[in-house]
Amino acid sequence: MSDLHHAVSLLKEGKLIGLPTETVYGLAADALNSKAMASIFHLKGRPTFNPLIIHTHSLEALKEDIIITPTARLLAEHFWPGPLTLVLRRSPHCRIDPLASAGLPTLAVRIPRHPLALELLKLINRPLAAPSANLSNHLSPTTKDMVLKDFKDLYVLEGGPAVVGVESTIIGLEGDVPTLYRPGGIALEAIEAVIGTIAQPGKGIHAPGMQKKHYAPNHSLRLNAVSKNEGELLLGFGDTKNADLNLSPTGDLTEAASNLFYMLHLLDARPSKGIAVSPIPMIGLGLAMNDRLKRGAVRD
Ligand code: AMP
Ligand code: MG
Repeated sequence: MSDLHHAVSLLKEGKLIGLPTETVYGLAADALNSKAMASIFHLKGRPTFNPLIIHTHSLEALKEDIIITPTARLLAEHFWPGPLTLVLRRSPHCRIDPLASAGLPTLAVRIPRHPLALELLKLINRPLAAPSANLSNHLSPTTKDMVLKDFKDLYVLEGGPAVVGVESTIIGLEGDVPTLYRPGGIALEAIEAVIGTIAQPGKGIHAPGMQKKHYAPNHSLRLNAVSKNEGELLLGFGDTKNADLNLSPTGDLTEAASNLFYMLHLLDARPSKGIAVSPIPMIGLGLAMNDRLKRGAVRD
């Protein structure tokens, strides 16, 4: 049996698998199976108020599950398959398990760009919920080995290193105004070029599951560091001097995003008094990187 067919049969039995996507590796399961949904929360140790993203191979495949708005169609045409998640209203006959939505009247959906993920979604022809394949509050995995660190018995499809390396951008389309719920793998500027201004989180806007602390390495993180203190490791960007690793020596934000979690993971495995990170500009994918770093820097 091919790896893909094996993955399909596991999913049909309600089991979980490791799924490579272009953002990070996902912990995937059949979104129509409530036991499988409960297993995702249980295995990750994820609070059940934190909803999951549903992965599909086409918007049409979910037409009985969600209310597809014209803006959703426009964004889908421009950015799918790709690292953009849209939050839409659930339709009254939605088949997707309510636990995947954490009981909310909305559903987050996306079409991933990774060829293996797309092939699997077409083959199984069922929506899959797939949060990142890490224990809650651990770093998101961008390689199969990183997934196996947290879940050693999981069946993981090999899809190579994730090329985008940070999670999807999430846009809420369930209300009157498109709203940024999470910066991610597609730059906000690119989305605004298609649909105009997007409301950004501030007072009053609160996305479910966006806890202050998330994506944390074991070592403490010191952000916007201009040099390293004694005993620290330095994660550089651009022409940083004395960097132990550099996200992108040429200052390329796309390259830096694809290296972020993997390099944090490598530095985290080395003895140190903490990890210092060079400043990363707040443009393009820098928004997503600074967001993840800020959450990673929060200590209990
Ligand atoms: P991940 O942890 O990468 O799987 O991303 C899941 C995130 O998507 C959640 O933590 C929420 O922030 C967001 N999300 C998922 N479903 C919804 C929803 N129905 N409404 C708003 N945000 C959602
Ligand atoms: Mg995650």
